[in-house]
Amino acid sequence: MNTAKLRAPIATPAAVPIARVALDVPLFTAFDFLAPGFRDADIGRLVIVPFGRAGHTCVGLIVEMVTQTTVPPEKLKAIVRAVGVPPLAPRDLALFAFCERYYHFPLGQIALNAIPPRLRQTKHFSITEMRMVAITNTGRAALATLPARAVVQRAMLSALAETAALREDAVASVYEGGRARLQRLIEKGWAEFRAAVDVPPEARATLTTTHTLNSEQTAAVAAIIAARGTFAPILLEGVTGSGKTEVYLHAIHDALEHQLQALVMVPEINLSPAFVRAVAARFPHARIAELHSGMAEGARTQAWLAAQRGDADIVIGTRLAVFTPLPRLGLIVVDEEHDTSYKQQEGLRYSARDVAVFRAQEVSCPVVLGSATPSLESLHNVARNRFAHIALRARAVVNATLPRVAFIDTNHERLRDGISKALIDAIDETVKRGEQALVFINRRGFAPALVCAQCGWMPSCTRCTARLVFHRGIDRLRCHHCGLTVRVPSHCADCGSHQMIAAGEGTERIESALAAALPEARMARVDRDSTRRVGSLEAIFARAEAGALDVLVGTQMLSKGHDFPNLTLVGVVNADGALFSADFRAAERLAQQIMQVAGRAGRASRGGRVLIQTRFPEHAVFQAIAAQDYPRFAASAMRERKQNHLPPFSYLALLRAESQKPDALNAFLGAAKAAADESAAALQGNQVHVWDAVPSTLTRKAGFERQQLLIQADTRRALQDVLAAWMPLVRALPQRAVRWTLDVDPQEV
Ligand SMILES: [Zn+2]
Ligand SMILES: [Zn+2]
Repeated sequence: MNTAKLRAPIATPAAVPIARVALDVPLFTAFDFLAPGFRDADIGRLVIVPFGRAGHTCVGLIVEMVTQTTVPPEKLKAIVRAVGVPPLAPRDLALFAFCERYYHFPLGQIALNAIPPRLRQTKHFSITEMRMVAITNTGRAALATLPARAVVQRAMLSALAETAALREDAVASVYEGGRARLQRLIEKGWAEFRAAVDVPPEARATLTTTHTLNSEQTAAVAAIIAARGTFAPILLEGVTGSGKTEVYLHAIHDALEHQLQALVMVPEINLSPAFVRAVAARFPHARIAELHSGMAEGARTQAWLAAQRGDADIVIGTRLAVFTPLPRLGLIVVDEEHDTSYKQQEGLRYSARDVAVFRAQEVSCPVVLGSATPSLESLHNVARNRFAHIALRARAVVNATLPRVAFIDTNHERLRDGISKALIDAIDETVKRGEQALVFINRRGFAPALVCAQCGWMPSCTRCTARLVFHRGIDRLRCHHCGLTVRVPSHCADCGSHQMIAAGEGTERIESALAAALPEARMARVDRDSTRRVGSLEAIFARAEAGALDVLVGTQMLSKGHDFPNLTLVGVVNADGALFSADFRAAERLAQQIMQVAGRAGRASRGGRVLIQTRFPEHAVFQAIAAQDYPRFAASAMRERKQNHLPPFSYLALLRAESQKPDALNAFLGAAKAAADESAAALQGNQVHVWDAVPSTLTRKAGFERQQLLIQADTRRALQDVLAAWMPLVRALPQRAVRWTLDVDPQEV
C-alpha cells in the first residue's frame, strides 16, 4: 500500500500523529488523516473520517500510523471518531494484505467488505446481548401430546428439547413466522428466555457422544489432533455417509479442550440453522457464532464481535466467515471443499478454501478440507505432497450400503415432459412403500426456451445473448442472466403462428409432470425460485424430515447437507448437457453433483437406488458414477487436464471486460494484451502464455458487450509475477466506457 503522491513530505504541526486509513474505494491507496490522541496500538481500528463531498463521512480502517504526510496542511482533515469496537489484530490485517497481493484487489475494499455491514455505518449503534431460549417442563409435556399437524411447533420444541438452551435468533430464524411462533411458545409457558450464562472453558468443550467412532474415523481424528499447533492441510476424503461430520466434531472437541477456537466453513446452501443446531446440540455448553450474509445485521455483528473478543468457541459460516477475527484460532474445517460457492463471483473474487489454507499457515494450525468428491486441485496438492490425505472408505452407519446406480437409456425410452415412464413407475413404487424419492434436475424454471412450432423462432433477451426461460408459475419469461422479465408472447414474432411450445425442461415442468402422474404423492420443489423467502428452504426440509413429503424435485440445492432417513430413490434427469460443455470443469461438477445427490439415497439402513436418465449411459463420467468410483473419475479427468495443460496443471487468470461501446472494448483489450505480452516477455523462460481476447460465453449481458483475456502460467509463482507487472499497466490504461475485473484462479472460463 502506498500513498502515490510524489511530493516532499511535510511534518505536521506539533507532531500530531497521522493515520493512514484504507477506505472502501477502488484505489490502491490509503488516505492520510490527522489523528490526535491515536497511537500505534490503534492500527487495525475502524474510524469515521470525512470523505468526499463536504459534510460526508465514511468508515475506514487504520493501516499505518506515521508522523509525516505529503498532503498539504490546508487539505489535511482529522479523524471524526473511532468506531466503538476493538481494533483488528495484525494477523487480520496480514490476511487482507495477502488477498490484496494475490487477487490484485484494493485492501480497503477487502477489509471493509470483510466486516459486518453494521460496523461500516457511520451512525451510532448498540449491540443487544444475545438471549437464550430453553424448553420448560410444561413444554416437554406438551411436546409429547402435540398433534402431528402442529408441524412447526413440534419442530421448534423438539429442537429445544435436544439441548439445554438455544440462541433466540437460531430458533426464530428457522421457521416461517418464527418470531411470532416463538412468542406464542413463551406465552404458553412452553419455553422461556434465559440470559447467556457464563460457562468455564473446560465445560465448554463438552462433546456429547452418541456413538463410538469406527477405526477409520478414530485414525482420522488422531491425525488431526497430532497436527495441533502446526500448519497441516489435510484432505479428508470420505464417501457420503462415512461420518466426516463426526470427525470434525471430535477434532473441534480437541481444539476446545485446548482453549482454541474452531472455524467451520460450509457451502452457502449447506449452512442451515439445522446444521448449526446439530453442532450446538453436541456441544451444549460451547459458544457458537453463526456467520452468513442472510443473517439479520444485529445478529451478525454480535456473532462477529463474539468471535473477535475470543468469546465464541466455534464459528460456523459461509465463505465470508473466513475473514472473521479469531484470536485463539486453532482449527479450520472446510466442509464440501469442492463446492463452487466457496468462490466469490463478484468484487474480491476469492476462494474461501484457498484463503483458509493461507490463514492456517499464518497461525500454524491444521486445516481440514472435507469432501466425498474432492476438487482436482486438492487431489493434485495431495499428489504433490502439499496436503496430507485421509480416506474414510466405510459408511459409518451400520449396515448402510452405497446406493445401486442404474440407467434409463433415453435413446429407447419415450420421454413425456422430460421424464420417462420407467422413472415415474419407480417413484410410484417407492412412495407406495412409504419411502421417499428425490428427482434432481439442474435447471430451474419450466422450460429453457419457448419455440414457435412453425418456424422455430425463440424469444430471447433484448439485453443479453441468451434465450428467455419460461416460468409457468408466474406465467412469465425471464432472463437468468440479467433478470429481465416479460410477458409470454401469445404468438410468434416472426411468422405470427399461435403455436408456441415450451421446449426442454426445468424443475417446474418435472414437478408438474410428476404431480399429474402421481396425484396422491405429496411433493415439493426446491430451487432458487421456490426458496427465495428466508426460512422456506428450511421449512421444506423440515417437512421432508418429518415424513410430510413423498417426493422432492430440485436443483443441486438438494444435494447437500440434509439427511432424509426415509429417502431410497434418487432420479437424475437431463444431465447430458454438462458432458459436452465448453467449460473444462463441467464434467467434474456433474460427477460431484450426481455423486452428492446419489449419496442422499439410502443413508439409513434401507439401501438406496439411483436412476439416471441419459442418452449416453456408456460415457466415462456416468460409468464412474455407476461404479461409485470418484477416484477413478478423478484419475481420468486428471489425465485429461494434464494433457491439455489445464488446472491444476497450470494456473489461470482471466481479465473480463465489458462495455456498451464495442470500439472502446476492443481498444482497451488490445492495449491490455500488448501490456500482458510485454510483462510475460520480461519473465525468465517461457512459462506464461497470453491468449488473445475472445468474446465471453455470454457475449452480451444487460446491454454490455463482453470479452475476456486469459493468462495461463506453468506455476503459481510465474502467474503472480506476470500479474504484478501487468496490473499496474492495465490500471494506467485509458478506460473510458469500459468496466473490467481480474479473476485469479477463475472457476468459470
Ligand atoms: Zn438478459
Ligand atoms: Zn414462427
